[in-house]
Amino acid sequence: MTRYSRKKGNHGYTAKSKQLKMKRRTRDLDEIDNDLEPQNAEKLLNQPVDIDVAGGAQNYCLHCARYFIDDQAMQAHFRSKQHKRRLKALEMEPYTIQEAEAAGGVGTYVQPKKRKMKTQQSK
Ligand SMILES: [Zn+2]
Repeated sequence: MTRYSRKKGNHGYTAKSKQLKMKRRTRDLDEIDNDLEPQNAEKLLNQPVDIDVAGGAQNYCLHCARYFIDDQAMQAHFRSKQHKRRLKALEMEPYTIQEAEAAGGVGTYVQPKKRKMKTQQSK
C-alpha cells in the first residue's frame, strides 16, 4: 500500500492517450439522429459483408453505432444498461440552430419534443 493513490492512464504521454481517445470515439448523437431516418436506417441495417469490422457488419446497433459479432451478442446488448441509456439520450430531439436563435431572442421558442425510442427489430 502506498500513501498516494495511483493515477490511471498515460502520464504525460499525450500522443498515445489522444490516439486511444480517437479509437474509442463513436458517432455523435446528432449523427445517430440522422441515421435513424428510415432510408438511412435501411442502409445501415443491410450492409454488405465487411470483414474488417466485427461480425462482418451484419449485426449493427443503430442507436449506439456499434457492431456485434453475432445476433446473440446484439440481443445481450439490447438488454444492457449502455443501450438503454443511449435510447434515453436519443429521446430528446437534437439541438438545432432554430432553438439557439430562439434562446437569443430571434423567433419563438418551441420546447424540444420527446419521442419514443424503440430498439430496432432483429432479423
Ligand atoms: Zn445499442
